[in-house]
Amino acid sequence: MSSQAECVRCAELWRAYGVATNEHVRLLNEQARVAGVNTDRFRELDSLCEPAAGRRDAARAAIETHLAAEHAEPAQRTMTA
Ligand SMILES: [Zn+2]
Repeated sequence: MSSQAECVRCAELWRAYGVATNEHVRLLNEQARVAGVNTDRFRELDSLCEPAAGRRDAARAAIETHLAAEHAEPAQRTMTA
């Protein structure tokens, strides 16, 4: 079993999660800036935030799936003895 610290796939997945998170936060910040100022842009950002949040959740789920499959996280194990 490889260490998570040395796992290339873990690094990729965390990087993807970071990118998705940054993108979502950027949209939320812009939306906060235009609130009450630019209604059209606010609505547009509303429709962009939802898929961005979905990509962030999917990236997070991919990490969980990988950890369970490749690193057998203790929390996911069943006690046998
Ligand atoms: Zn890994």
